[in-house]
Amino acid sequence: MATAIELEGVTFGYTDTPAVEDISLTIDKGEFFGLVGPNGSGKTTLLKLILGVHDPDAGDITVFGEPIEAFNAGSRIGYVPQQSSRKGDTMPVTVREVVAMGRFPHSPFTRFDETDVVLIEDAMETVGISELSDRRISRLSGGQKQRVFIARALASNADLLALDEPTVGIDAASRDEFFTLLSELNRDGITTILIEHDLNTVATYADRIACINRSVHYVGSAADFIASDGHVDRRPDSDVRPLYADGTAGYTDTVQNSPDT
Ligand code: ADP
Repeated sequence: MATAIELEGVTFGYTDTPAVEDISLTIDKGEFFGLVGPNGSGKTTLLKLILGVHDPDAGDITVFGEPIEAFNAGSRIGYVPQQSSRKGDTMPVTVREVVAMGRFPHSPFTRFDETDVVLIEDAMETVGISELSDRRISRLSGGQKQRVFIARALASNADLLALDEPTVGIDAASRDEFFTLLSELNRDGITTILIEHDLNTVATYADRIACINRSVHYVGSAADFIASDGHVDRRPDSDVRPLYADGTAGYTDTVQNSPDT
């Protein structure tokens, strides 16, 4: 299978202490890949390295076969950030205007032609927000806003969606609908990388997961990870390390209490 993302020995730190260390991972084209790990374990940092926001201190990142330095992430990777970190929600922009931003990397001086307009309208249709197109983004619910950001990525013809806990603060019904949409888009071919704290959600939607805590502790199916109850190092065929010194990954509570935690 063709490779979407390849990381080799990637280390990066904001300070002298690395936030992620010696990460090697391969994500296949078309894969739905989950990134899990405790708070502060480096998941967002890893996603930002893949987006080219930070340059690695060591190691190499290849995106769709190109070194990240040569890759135009603006047009090919759609990023859906966490709700809480989103700035600009109060800006007086409409849904259509936000989705249209997806065409900026393709349309110099933002002069849209007919193709741009069709792509913008189609993207809104695909995620089910056409009837909201003239509404201000600040008036939307959390779930609707996240759909707008997906539509922006689709308008951009993104090959890859990178989502950082996209449904935090969204009600359960909208969350299920949102993940169903992601799943459909993935089935249509878009590679998906999802940071998600709820392991049951990851197990439902992701083909594979990586569990990180500064370095990679597990890569494989979410079902196997859950079955190991976090004791990933005790599987007979495993050479991965536990997240914590007691051998657990710290996920037992999350699994038992889901989906409401
Ligand atoms: P996660 O997404 O798993 O919660 P992060 O990637 O956000 O983890 O953070 C990993 C580590 O890097 C944490 O120790 C965090 O405090 C630190 N960190 C994250 N962003 C910054 C930043 N902008 N400046 C300094 N340290 C940061």
